[in-house]
Amino acid sequence: MKPLIHVEDLGFAYKPGFPILFGLNFKIYSGEFVAIQGPSGSGKSTLLYLLGCMTPVQSGKITIGNWDTSKLTDDELAVFRNENLGFVFQQFHLLPKANVLENILLSARYPIEKPKNIKTFTLKARELATRLGLQDRLDHGPQELSGGQQQRVAIARALLNEAPIILADEPTGNLDSKSAAIVIDELKSLKKSGKTVILITHDKDIAAQADRTIFIYDGKIAKEESHGLSNAPNILIPSPKLGFRNPIDSYLKLLPFVSANIFRNKIRSILTMIGISIGVASVFAMVTLGQFAKERILSSYAELGVNTLSFRGSQNWDQKATDKTGIVFSSFSWERDLEPLKKIFPEVIRISPVLSTWRAKLDFGGKAIEEDARVIGINEEAFLITGRELSKGSNISLFHVKNRSAVCVIGSEVAEKLFSNVEALGEVLKISSDEQSYGCRVIGVAKALRSRSEDRNPDLEVYIPNTYFQTVGGNWWVVRIRDVLMKIADGNDIEKTGKAIQSFFERKYGTSGRFRANANSILIGQMNRFLNIFSTFLASIALISLAVGGIGIANMMLVSVSERYREIGLRKALGATNTSIRQQFLLEAILLCGIAGVFGLAFGFIGYQTIIWGGSKFIPKFQFEWIINYQALLLSTVSILAVGIASGFIPALRAEKLSPIEALRSE
Ligand code: ADP
Ligand code: MG
Repeated sequence: MKPLIHVEDLGFAYKPGFPILFGLNFKIYSGEFVAIQGPSGSGKSTLLYLLGCMTPVQSGKITIGNWDTSKLTDDELAVFRNENLGFVFQQFHLLPKANVLENILLSARYPIEKPKNIKTFTLKARELATRLGLQDRLDHGPQELSGGQQQRVAIARALLNEAPIILADEPTGNLDSKSAAIVIDELKSLKKSGKTVILITHDKDIAAQADRTIFIYDGKIAKEESHGLSNAPNILIPSPKLGFRNPIDSYLKLLPFVSANIFRNKIRSILTMIGISIGVASVFAMVTLGQFAKERILSSYAELGVNTLSFRGSQNWDQKATDKTGIVFSSFSWERDLEPLKKIFPEVIRISPVLSTWRAKLDFGGKAIEEDARVIGINEEAFLITGRELSKGSNISLFHVKNRSAVCVIGSEVAEKLFSNVEALGEVLKISSDEQSYGCRVIGVAKALRSRSEDRNPDLEVYIPNTYFQTVGGNWWVVRIRDVLMKIADGNDIEKTGKAIQSFFERKYGTSGRFRANANSILIGQMNRFLNIFSTFLASIALISLAVGGIGIANMMLVSVSERYREIGLRKALGATNTSIRQQFLLEAILLCGIAGVFGLAFGFIGYQTIIWGGSKFIPKFQFEWIINYQALLLSTVSILAVGIASGFIPALRAEKLSPIEALRSE
């Protein structure tokens, strides 16, 4: 007859060079009740862990049914333990925080990847409890039970999955003689019901009750004694292979376990989550406020954009006749002075002349704007330089500039005042200034600008091609190009570029002209640079506080791994796969971070809106507004996820690597 368990030449060492077991050979047949007897420290428990597939076989071979256990993967071993092996330990190993029914049911919960019908198993658990005299203890915790009762809970748990093999490691070691007798009787009746029972003991009277005793001494088999023989039929051990598994499915199945655990450690979880929340809130609020302040400060400088250089050249009227050398500067020529600048200064990427009238009168359809309106002559690049946007229509094009087209883009207030009932696009606006009158067809309407300076209101301006301006604009003084707008490529110092262009023209025209960059545009350049550094600085402080929160979570999870050593070991012994243990811890960290993150985002939002509201009460001309900065939102969300995964990873790997024997042995 083929043995159910065949141990061949089995050796084992916890530390290389210090073997505990030496070449054991024995067979156990289906339906036998075998006692393994030996003095303390002889290696009995080690042998049981090997038979129980809780630690890998190092040398020799253990065959159970048709399965060479050293050939199975960790996950397959988990299934194998769950379905074929029932464990009863000297220390009972019950979950202290779960009641009797939950403890019995624990083996039915694993492996997560091969779920069982909990309803059916609950009925079975109740039946088993009744058989073992525990029916009125089902909702009690283990600490409310006697040792004998706890061991009977452990036996019920070992029987729940109908494992054909029961492994008991000194199950009576912690019991009084009466309880011990009940447990031994129970094991005997298991044998009668057809199970194979392996009982470890150092007590010869207990061993004598088995069919056969294998004596172990110093890691070797000293002798074997037979008290009777089994003639039970051979049983078939099914395949422990796991099919394809969907990780999302595993995570969903783990969710109840994990949330129960977070809930069980309420205070600790909440404290850790507060850390993360503060971190996320500060990232969200600081990045949002940093950007907001930057936009506000920059936009308060009228319509000048970032990286914009406004440059002026004018004739030097103070120049004495004797200074005159070479060409005399009176105003810029597009072809001679401005167009070549892009080639000479590669950092100048766009350039437009700026011509402007003083007051201009605008007429359309019987309505008129008398005061404050101005006409500005620009080319097709001007709006691209300042970043000015249109609310409708199109921009002045190169074609318009080349052909001196009579077209215009109007400011938002011009549109409101003159075209309130009429579609502006396509209509012809009449302009009168400097004793000239001319018309232009409206091709676009500019968006309203948030702020304006004292002397200019860009929303009351009309923009026409600078070439058209020069044809119709009136007196000789107005049509000369003295102001120029330039876009400077990112990363260049506006002030330096301004100085370089200034000395370029001074070399060209000597002292006959005066050249200078507009102070505002330099200020904006510097301010932009400063604000960028400042908001990066704010964001880094916030990210550091988030990282500190993350370390908090990692720390808590590590503590929780060490605290739950025995629990992890027990779960693994009962059939939890390493993967599901890892996933459990990772999910716990991600869940904690996720919940904390949502609160953090909410706190951050409330925080910065409160600051803006406070600002609107104390700072004149500063208006409250609701803002969501998507960049900040994205940054905070990504960092929550990163912190969750990063802080869960080390504890998760540590829990996964934990070997069940070490975990079970730890106190
Ligand atoms: P028994 O169950 O017969 O008392 P064990 O199998 O528990 O014996 O232990 C056998 C030997 O292995 C003992 O000398 C013990 O000190 C040693 N041992 C047990 N566990 C470990 C371990 N995790 N690391 C190193 N040595 C161990
Ligand atoms: Mg032992």
